[in-house]
Amino acid sequence: MKPHEIAFEIAQELGFDLAGIAPLEAPHRAGEFQTWLEEGRHGSMEYLERQKDRILDPSRVLPDARSLLILGLGHARAPLELEGGARVARYAAGRDYHNWISKRLQNLRRRLEALGLRGPYRGIVDAGPIMERAHAAAAGIGAESKAANLLSTAHGPWFFLGELLLGEELEPGPGPSNPPGMTLPNCGTCTACIDACPTEAIVAPGQVDARRCISYLTIEHRGPIEHDLRASLGPWVFGCDVCSEVCPWGSDAPDASALLGTHAAFEAPEGSPLTGWLTHREGFSVRFNGSPLQRPRREGLARNAAIVLGNLPSDEGREALLIALAEDPAGVVRAAAAWGLLRGHGDDAGVRGAIERALERERDEAVRRDFNRTIRGPSV
Ligand code: SF4
Ligand code: SF4
Repeated sequence: MKPHEIAFEIAQELGFDLAGIAPLEAPHRAGEFQTWLEEGRHGSMEYLERQKDRILDPSRVLPDARSLLILGLGHARAPLELEGGARVARYAAGRDYHNWISKRLQNLRRRLEALGLRGPYRGIVDAGPIMERAHAAAAGIGAESKAANLLSTAHGPWFFLGELLLGEELEPGPGPSNPPGMTLPNCGTCTACIDACPTEAIVAPGQVDARRCISYLTIEHRGPIEHDLRASLGPWVFGCDVCSEVCPWGSDAPDASALLGTHAAFEAPEGSPLTGWLTHREGFSVRFNGSPLQRPRREGLARNAAIVLGNLPSDEGREALLIALAEDPAGVVRAAAAWGLLRGHGDDAGVRGAIERALERERDEAVRRDFNRTIRGPSV
């Protein structure tokens, strides 16, 4: 068996659904990435700017690396809905995939090392310094789409990616799950994701402006979310699956949580209902221990919950928003609570009075501006 065949076989044994080897060279969309950065479309993800040189030249990530092994793993398909209709991106179900895919990459590394494949090794999951979708496309395991994700023949857009840089020279090409000649998905004339995106974040085929993307805004972005975008979050309290849900290539994808016993970790996220996400300030890290929902931190998740409780009004939501407006120590949450109250219960004179009183009490200038913008509109 050749080294690349060994790598594919072990990857399959470890439960990876897709595998391929990309040439260790600059990603083919390097120019577009540079322009995207220059236009500031990465929002506050400054680490992309800092790591630009390594992202554009993967051989800098691990100087003795000779190959880039790309692995894919189908994820859960069942929609995640909290009480009251709030939505969570499917990938967030259960334990944080960064952790368990990293462990699986470590296992793969140990098995390959034991068989004599040369190191050094470095496993990367998601936030690492490489353009993983461009490399995965170069490895032949999927095709880049107009929604800037990767579409696989078997899983559509519903899969995770992980990568293993290694010192052994492996023959580039797709693994047995994507044999040469297999037709890869193709967007063709379809524009469903562009048309369906709630915030018009897909500014051109294959280009997402992170500053408008609900996934970025609800997970990575710190601070207030722009007023003009808050209503467009709709029910999405963590991430957004809209562009994947409308993609015809994903409609027949298997639900990997049912297919693979190894995905037993996929369960509804802890901490429901949504009102608790807003008002329970203590024990955040315990409640969301090991979950991707920790990523936005307590303030970010409470901010998102306040906005979604405004978009999906209920009596319980109103009470939770009033508590957050009066008591939350984070200005970003108080400001979002005021917005949620006015959005969901603007006809209620008691709610308007509570926001006016909160404005009188408020000492944080940025929060005062946010309150004023909520009460009096964009001219303030
Ligand atoms: S994740 Fe949601 S907001 Fe972001 S591009 Fe897709 S549909 Fe638009
Ligand atoms: S929805 Fe259509 S345009 Fe968008 S990624 Fe899927 S096939 Fe491509």
